[in-house]
Amino acid sequence: MNHPIVIVGAGIVGASIAWNLARRGKPVLILDQTGIGKGATGRSFGWINANFAETPAYFALRSAAIDAHHEMEAALGPVATRWTGCLWWEDEGASFDAHVAELAAFGYEAQVVARPEIARMAPALATPPDQAIHVAREGGADGEVIAARLIEAAVALGAKIWIGPKANGFLRQGGRVIGVATDHGPVPASQVIVAAGAGAATLTGLPMANKPGLILRTRPLPAILGPIIMAPDVHFRQDAEGRIVAGEIFSGDGPGQASITTDPGSLALELIERIRVHLPGQEIEIERVTFGLRPVPKDGLPAVGPLEEGLYIASMHSGITLAPLIGTLVALEIAEGSEAPELAPFRPSRLS
Ligand SMILES: Cc1cc2nc3c(=O)[nH]c(=O)nc-3n(C[C@H](O)[C@H](O)[C@H](O)COP(=O)(O)OP(=O)(O)OC[C@H]3O[C@@H](n4cnc5c(N)ncnc54)[C@H](O)[C@@H]3O)c2cc1C
Repeated sequence: MNHPIVIVGAGIVGASIAWNLARRGKPVLILDQTGIGKGATGRSFGWINANFAETPAYFALRSAAIDAHHEMEAALGPVATRWTGCLWWEDEGASFDAHVAELAAFGYEAQVVARPEIARMAPALATPPDQAIHVAREGGADGEVIAARLIEAAVALGAKIWIGPKANGFLRQGGRVIGVATDHGPVPASQVIVAAGAGAATLTGLPMANKPGLILRTRPLPAILGPIIMAPDVHFRQDAEGRIVAGEIFSGDGPGQASITTDPGSLALELIERIRVHLPGQEIEIERVTFGLRPVPKDGLPAVGPLEEGLYIASMHSGITLAPLIGTLVALEIAEGSEAPELAPFRPSRLS
């Protein structure tokens, strides 16, 4: 009997892998305990970027992933991503200069722009900084929209999706994984792929340092903001429906700031006040606040590759940026039995 490839997780990463496998004619079943894009994917800031990549290999992966977004959009049609570019000035002085130098060393298409140019790009800003780093090729995405669109496209190609079952472990026979044990019973598989985001730690034992994050959305506004804004006190962007999407800089535990873990309500109110200062004269009201867990493998880099015979993992931060490329590469590896050189530095075996 031909069992499907079972993907645990219908976030943006699992959805992208499912679509790419379905495009290769592979039978796929996606399992998720909560819903499509209901994990980190639907609680993300959604900045598509190759900043803070730390290693050349990770920069190359993130940069190629930006291109992969455009390839995905060409195949799927629009997915609400806004390619607005980004203005970054979280740091100043020597830290700002160091960041400029790091991006230049990686060959990133980043330019330092001065106040008049910033004011021209983002006229709604009350106090444009003296200088910022502008990257024109960055964008802002709604991960939940992309995940839903990818799953829809995968299902149109024959993939199946099952929302409800929680994976508790794996079925093994003859030294290989042959399925998933769930609270709805055993699910046989020709191959299991864990794309469970932060949940990969419990399910597979992958060493992870997952990190909480708070995002708020305002009620829709008229189109007032072009570039994504990464200011020292808050980052924000305007989405395709006019909402300002904002996140905290220090994961909610920065100096003098309400704590994300003990007082998320106060943190959300602090954030909305900071946005009102940056964008005066606008009707800025909170519509929704979400609290998510960033999936972060222990050393901060993606974990993508085999864990054991029949069991493969894809867990990472910056998954909104990376998912279109990761889906292509994982599908290639699983379908062809080959090894994508781009993934060599990111194998999960380095963490054990
Ligand atoms: C506040 C915040 C800000 C972020 N900002 C950015 C950003 O600006 N740019 C960027 O690129 N990335 C950002 N990220 C990270 C990005 O959102 C994630 O890397 C990405 O969404 C991970 O996608 P995923 O599909 O791997 O995981 P998820 O979206 O978490 O999906 C995993 C799915 O697996 C399911 N699942 C888990 N365990 C089980 C189980 N045992 N059984 C069944 N189902 C299970 C869950 O229900 C979930 O639907 C941010 C994340 C957060 C939280």
